[in-house]
Amino acid sequence: METDAPMSSSSSGPSEPSALTIPAIPALPAIPTLRPIGIVRSPVGDIKKMPRGGVEAVIELDHRYASGLQRIEEHSNIWVLSWFHESESARDTLIVNPVKEDPTAFGYGVFGMRANRRPNPIALSLVDLLGVDGNRVRVRGLDAIDGTPVLDIKSYWERDVIFSPRAPVLRPKERQTRWRDLVRLGKQHHQETCTDFYLGMRMALIAEEALGKLTALGLTVQVEGSRCLGDSIQGITHARLANPARFTFAESASAQRSEWRSGDAGASADADAGKGNTDGSDTERVLRLHAREAAVQGRPAEMDAWAPDAISDEELFEIEGG
Ligand SMILES: [Zn+2]
Repeated sequence: METDAPMSSSSSGPSEPSALTIPAIPALPAIPTLRPIGIVRSPVGDIKKMPRGGVEAVIELDHRYASGLQRIEEHSNIWVLSWFHESESARDTLIVNPVKEDPTAFGYGVFGMRANRRPNPIALSLVDLLGVDGNRVRVRGLDAIDGTPVLDIKSYWERDVIFSPRAPVLRPKERQTRWRDLVRLGKQHHQETCTDFYLGMRMALIAEEALGKLTALGLTVQVEGSRCLGDSIQGITHARLANPARFTFAESASAQRSEWRSGDAGASADADAGKGNTDGSDTERVLRLHAREAAVQGRPAEMDAWAPDAISDEELFEIEGG
């Protein structure tokens, strides 16, 4: 299970096969029985109560495997592979509808999702490594419940990072949830939560609602302001400076503003660009957000102080277009 792991599925989707029809391929070799290396110790024991983004937890390894952790602390992050033991009964699932994640999302094959229901219910979680004490590995961001068998741990490397991958967008219905998702995702890039980071995430929230998928190739963004604002917005949009050129930045100490454009010629290169921009027209749409200095000044660098339920879009920005 991962932060972007749609868990829900239902049998009402448009393209769900009516019955399980996976013929056994005789040539597929058998593999030996998997032996767990340890178990998850988490304060959360019920998957329905697991917060998005997971919690702090401990992976307790069988003592026989403890020396396999040697020097793992040189990594800030690790992959955890575990076994969705509660999904044993759903191993015939091939199509899922992650409607809890996004009410409009239907008909995704399990191999394109991180759903727990799948032929081999193996979970893949990317977590922060907080520390190791003997056979106990303390992590943050693990959304496997207490008692989940752990199959393997693998290190996360810089070469695992793809700055601007192509992926479908699943957009939660609740604005507050979308806000928290953006902050969590943006933090992975900016690596600190300063006030201008939160300002950038609020700009991104409004832009996504007005223009659709932030990572769409047809969406370009121009930032004028602090380096933290520019970096935060570049991180959340995955907008590169070139190939294709989607991002420009001008450092400024006097203004914090961003200009977002979608629907230009480049948009047709990205079939998903139209979420939230479904009129199908090729007209360019422009959104300009200019931070109101009085609203920004002195606002603490805390997520709740910048949340949509704490301050409205109009209080925070002069908004033009969209
Ligand atoms: Zn910063």
